[in-house]
Formats: sequence, C-alpha cells, structure tokens
Amino acid sequence: MHQYQNHIGIVGAGISGLALGCMLAKNNIPSILFEKHSKLGSHGAGISLSPNGLRVLEHMNLMNNIHNHSVQTSRTRIYSDSRCVYSADPLLRTMSRENLYKILLEEYLSSGGEILFNHDLKGIDNNKSKLFFNNGSKFIIRHIAACDGIKSLCREVVLKKNSDPIYSGYSAWRGLVASDQDHASIYLSKRSHIVTYPIDKNTLSFVGVVKTNKAYKQQWMSRGSIKEMREDLSMHPNEILNTLSKANEVHKWGIYQRPQLKNLFNNNITLLGDAAHPIVPFLGQGGCMALEDSFVFGKLLIANINDLQKAQSLYEKIRINRINKIKQMSEFQGRLYHLSNPLLVKGRNFLMNLSSSTTDKRLDRIWSYDPLDYL
Ligand SMILES: Cc1cc2nc3c(=O)[nH]c(=O)nc-3n(C[C@H](O)[C@H](O)[C@H](O)COP(=O)(O)OP(=O)(O)OC[C@H]3O[C@@H](n4cnc5c(N)ncnc54)[C@H](O)[C@@H]3O)c2cc1C
Repeated sequence: MHQYQNHIGIVGAGISGLALGCMLAKNNIPSILFEKHSKLGSHGAGISLSPNGLRVLEHMNLMNNIHNHSVQTSRTRIYSDSRCVYSADPLLRTMSRENLYKILLEEYLSSGGEILFNHDLKGIDNNKSKLFFNNGSKFIIRHIAACDGIKSLCREVVLKKNSDPIYSGYSAWRGLVASDQDHASIYLSKRSHIVTYPIDKNTLSFVGVVKTNKAYKQQWMSRGSIKEMREDLSMHPNEILNTLSKANEVHKWGIYQRPQLKNLFNNNITLLGDAAHPIVPFLGQGGCMALEDSFVFGKLLIANINDLQKAQSLYEKIRINRINKIKQMSEFQGRLYHLSNPLLVKGRNFLMNLSSSTTDKRLDRIWSYDPLDYL
C-alpha cells in the first residue's frame, strides 16, 4: 500500500483532473493524479471555450499560453438550411484538445504535481480512502477527487449502485479538414446540426450531430466511413457534406447522459466535471463547466484544507444550481437546433436573427459567470 495520506488523490487526467491538479500544485497542496491510459487522450478533436471557461483559465494565469495555441474565431454564423439566420462576434476561442491538455499538464508538472499513467481505478474503499488499481497497486490517500468522466467508477461508489450512462437520442460524427476558415459556423437542419470551427490557421474541426435511434458506441475512437457519415447527415446541403468529406478519417459516437445528481459528494469522494454532470454538448459547456468545478473546488480546498467536509459542502452549494440549469439549457438547445415543424423553424430563425443584434440573455447568463463572485 502506497502511503499518500496527505495527498488529494485525483482520479482522471481530463480537463477537470488536470485543472484541479494545477490549482492544488500551485498552492503547495500535495496531490497525485491517476490516469488509466498511458498518455493524455485528446483523440485529435477540437474544443471551443466560451468566456466563462476562458475566465477560469485567466484566473489560473494560463491565458498567455492559451492565446498562443488557440484561435479567436472572427464570428459565429448560424445557417438554417443554407440561409444565414444569426451572425455575431461572441469572443470564443477554439483549439485542439491536445493543446489544452498539454498546457494544463505542463503547468501541473512544473508546479511540482505528480501523475501516474496506466493506473486504471478498479475499486475504492470510501471509508478508509483507499484506491485499488488494475495494475495491482494500492494507495491510501487523504481525499478522492473524482474526475473520471462520464463512465465514472467513483460516481457509482458515491451513488452506491451500478448504473450505465443513458443514450441521449443523439449520435455524432467528428473529423478534421484542411481549411483556412476563420469563423465558427453552425448548420441547422431537420433532426441534425453541424458545427465547424478552426483549431489553428489551417485546420477546421467539425462535429455533425443527428437525432437517431441508431445509438453508436460511447467511444470517441470508433472509426466510421465517409459514406456512412454522409448518409447520417444527408439532410444537409451537398456543399457542406463535400467539405466534411475531405477529412482523412471520421469518427462516430453516441452521446450519453446521466440522471441529475442531488449531491456532489459522499463521505470522502467529491465529483467534478463529467463524472458529476455529463451534458449534451449543444452549448459547448461540458469542458467549461469542468474548468469551473475544478477552480471552485480547488479554491475551497486551499482555503479549508483542514476542514475538507466544509470544502465539499460549500462546493456543492456553489455549483449544484448552475450545473442543473446548464444541463437543462443544453437539452433545450438540442431541441431548438433540430426543429422540423416549419412554423417553429420560422419562429426560431426570427428570434435568432433578433439576437444577432441584441445581447442573448440566455447565453449571457452562462458566459458572464465568474466563480470568484461566489467564493
Ligand atoms: C461532441 C462533443 C463536443 C464537445 N465540445 C465541447 C466544447 O466545444 N466546449 C466544451 O466546453 N465542452 C465540450 N464538450 C464536453 C467536454 O469534452 C467534456 O465535458 C469534458 O471533456 C469533461 O472533462 P472531464 O475532465 O470531466 O472528463 P474527461 O475529459 O472525460 O476526462 C476523464 C479522464 O478520466 C480518465 N479515467 C476514466 N476512468 C478512469 C479510471 N477508472 N481510472 C483512471 N482514470 C480514468 C479518462 O481516461 C480521462 O482521461 C464536448 C463533448 C462532446 C461529446
């Protein structure tokens, strides 16, 4: 048994785990990160960061690095069956996940953090704070920060039951194509939408979502064929499909969710990011929320390192309403994007057009969030 009784044990080196690690290491709180894979798993995909996520990175003093490895999208345009219904300048930054992970990992390591790859958690003793891994190693730690994503084992221990993620009714395709497009575009059609944005000067990332009973596996790495992708997204104009078809490889996966939680902790485990609240990705908030969670919990741990229960209950109090609200708003956005009734489509397009020139209050509520206002 490895003795790490004064360490916060962080399970999972995704966005939430790495961000929490950075917060703790920078403030000399001992932590150890366990990741099941042999390296970070960015899967060649892109991520868009909205002002609330960027604000957290700013508070973590990481924005210089983020600026150097991301693109400020010039505009976001929304098209409804080829007609532009929204065009605005919403200050998003887009980048490859790989670069985001690299920035966080470098910050963590340079601040003295410790990470162990090939450590796949298989069991937890939540009373004695012991972690058991598939490779046979065992650790006793001070507190368990569960950052192990949508298939979280820690969440099952917290809920005291096994449960599988639930198919959301949406499946998705993603890929990268060579392009100098400098803006983000969203193409809406019946039961489907496609999002494209640059991740650097020469590469466009796309995600095409379709509402379907054909539940693909919940794995980012399942390869698909261009032919199959075109069939799934056939409601979109050929011109767009031709651009997506230039991808060297395309991947497909099912989008899954979990029921909303009433509590974000149990005993000595605290849940963060997708382990706590996987959401449909239609407002691009999962990663941003993971950053917010980690920043808030990190700050609370630093301030209450001798009273972890206080840190846990404050964390839940600060985060739970926002998490639940954004989950609902993301689901609503999916319904809005995929409308098929012509009258409702007309109404939606009218409102989108209107919000091009006014502040979109819904988005503003999400994007203006500053965790420091709650700490
Ligand atoms: C199509 C799509 C597009 C998206 N686009 C955006 C976007 O533009 N903007 C945005 O903000 N969000 C976006 N998201 C959401 C975002 O990707 C996730 O919400 C975010 O990655 C969650 O971070 P996390 O750290 O909680 O979990 P993850 O990133 O899933 O990390 C979990 C980590 O835990 C590790 N792990 C799992 N189990 C174990 C175990 N047993 N032992 C050890 N390690 C383990 C995993 O290997 C992984 O490294 C999108 C999601 C999807 C599906």
